[in-house]
Amino acid sequence: MVDRIIVVGGGAAGLMAAGRAAELGGNVLLLEKQAKTGLKLGITGKGRCNLTNASSISDHLAHLGPQGAFMRNAYARYFAPDTIAFFEAHGVPTVTERGQRVFPASQRAHDVVDALRAYCLEHQVQFRYHSPVQALRVSAGAITGVCLPERDLDAATVILATGGMSYPRTGSTGDGYRLAADVGHTVIPPRPGLVPLVLQEPEVPRLEGLSLRNVRASLYREDDLLASEFGEMLFTSDGVSGPIILTLSMVAAHALSQAPLRLLLDLKPAIEPVELDQRLQRDLASLGNARFSALLKGLLPRLLIDVFAERSGLSPDHRLSQLSAEQRRRVLSLLKAFPFTVVGTRPIGEAIITQGGVSTVEINPATMASRRIAGLYFAGEIIDVAGDTGGYNLQLAFTTGYLAGESAARAVRAAHSADAMQASPSAEGSEQ
Ligand SMILES: Cc1cc2nc3c(=O)[nH]c(=O)nc-3n(C[C@H](O)[C@H](O)[C@H](O)COP(=O)(O)OP(=O)(O)OC[C@H]3O[C@@H](n4cnc5c(N)ncnc54)[C@H](O)[C@@H]3O)c2cc1C
Repeated sequence: MVDRIIVVGGGAAGLMAAGRAAELGGNVLLLEKQAKTGLKLGITGKGRCNLTNASSISDHLAHLGPQGAFMRNAYARYFAPDTIAFFEAHGVPTVTERGQRVFPASQRAHDVVDALRAYCLEHQVQFRYHSPVQALRVSAGAITGVCLPERDLDAATVILATGGMSYPRTGSTGDGYRLAADVGHTVIPPRPGLVPLVLQEPEVPRLEGLSLRNVRASLYREDDLLASEFGEMLFTSDGVSGPIILTLSMVAAHALSQAPLRLLLDLKPAIEPVELDQRLQRDLASLGNARFSALLKGLLPRLLIDVFAERSGLSPDHRLSQLSAEQRRRVLSLLKAFPFTVVGTRPIGEAIITQGGVSTVEINPATMASRRIAGLYFAGEIIDVAGDTGGYNLQLAFTTGYLAGESAARAVRAAHSADAMQASPSAEGSEQ
């Protein structure tokens, strides 16, 4: 009987799955289409790898979007403290930073990759590189192996951990979606997640490089508020990026399929409109007959002043003594809701993650086993669950990888025991 467990893809999820299956005694072969494993993991967190978040399970679930509930069961089995303990036990002490983000103390993502590789090697996982899996072999509703370009390989179980489609040069080119769909799985259409937004306004290129802190960005479809975030953002050559924008992009990528969206920036979120108006009136009284630009200098970063003046319909040279109450109110309303039109996201290749993927309805949440094909398991970003920034995505990969590896190893062991029982008539007697 074939007892081989094949793991397709050597990213965060595949390495964890392979290591765990081998630790439980599985005969594991990891197939990686690139020349190395862990290419994406090595660039995470700007090379520092935010490997998990030290918050609660409910906080993680809240950061996983609409599919978060799928992970509740899995997180009860393997969660952030297990990830931290795993890496500490494999020579990677960690530190917890602002927002409960956990990093290797060395600040080196490569240490995380090396620890996972060492875990696999310690338990005799075999690695085969330059091995792009092109199809899954299925017979009578059960997995029997995989097809490589030059040959087929038999397997008792297969774990698909091919990632999403972002940063394709790391090897994540969406192959797994096709492999899963070809054997009958439903794949929720992939779309970019944690991705910069593209804005329509022609003045945006002039704002490139402008970084805004302590602002509130709110996303609207017509008058319906879709999402709102407070924090830091920045302007790019064609739109906006930065932490709060990336978070909003999770909603925007979906909502944009219907129509452009409105992005309103509250540039003074800590001050209520009434107070802000009082402040404007005080500033006007103290600035006397100075120019409009002098008022704006006290309120806005330098790069925003000209664009703000244009939007308010006033010249930067406009004399403050001639500012009407109506004009003051227009300035106030722009400070509280500076509008842009979101017309798209940057392409999926530039996204931090891919949303969509193999439907969670067709995956057992306790084991990561396919509900359609016996012996098939899923791990990592290929599954239709996606998290915000903050270490949530790697925890997803580690948890689903750990469970898939464990379940695949147990399934093979159970099948072996059943075979042994059938082969040996005396085994029947041993049950007495
Ligand atoms: C720039 C960047 C920074 C990030 N930073 C963070 C962070 O700090 N914290 C965080 O939580 N998340 C971060 N993420 C997200 C996180 O990296 C991913 O969610 C996670 O790596 C997904 O792991 P995975 O194993 O599912 O997929 P991947 O890491 O994409 O691995 C998939 C593997 O499968 C291989 N493969 C694909 N197709 C085949 C095939 N047909 N045959 C064989 N092999 C195949 C690929 O070559 C690849 O090695 C970041 C992402 C990016 C792009």
